Amino acid sequence: MYDGLTTKYTFACPERGETRVTLSNFRQLERLPGAAHPAVFRVHFACTCGSEHVGLVSHDELDWAPLGLGSGVAFLNLMTARVEELGSELAELAATRIRAGEWPWSFFCYPENQPRPVFPSSFFLLAPSSGAAVGVAVRCPACAHASINIVSESHVDLPFHNDREIGVVEHVFAADAERAVEEFAAELHSAKFDARRLALE
Ligand SMILES: [Zn+2]
Ligand SMILES: [Zn+2]
Repeated sequence: MYDGLTTKYTFACPERGETRVTLSNFRQLERLPGAAHPAVFRVHFACTCGSEHVGLVSHDELDWAPLGLGSGVAFLNLMTARVEELGSELAELAATRIRAGEWPWSFFCYPENQPRPVFPSSFFLLAPSSGAAVGVAVRCPACAHASINIVSESHVDLPFHNDREIGVVEHVFAADAERAVEEFAAELHSAKFDARRLALE
């Protein structure tokens, strides 16, 4: 489902049979109830055909596959013309960077007024913003409050790519998810945000 070389997820498209989209093309993520291991998320995504579809993504594919962890990511080595496992090498690199204090993904928690490390499974709403920016609603793993950040597509799609400066919507969201969805849509279009520096180093 997740391809580590293109950083894209493969889903079914009723129009084209199959489609590949990046994480920043996701629009809504919702963890399905139940004790499934790994947990499964229902994802609404913006397809290249122009419509939005629904697909399922496992927790592993969301948080670990982009770091090369979990199921091996196979790639074709052009030098040896052999299919090799990319998983272990990528995972090793990711582990080294995390040990050095780098965060694969991060966001600015508005209620706590500080940057925090995060995984994509904490993203729950995404929407295109002006330019190539993406508005992303994140549920903070530390304080459980929601924040909206305005970031680049790479900030969302590429692990270890953290924008130096991000937009933060100055709004504390309702605790219940339903109202947060409505507020998210309203806030994203009101453009009341402020740039915060992500001092990660
Ligand atoms: Zn489609
Ligand atoms: Zn927080």
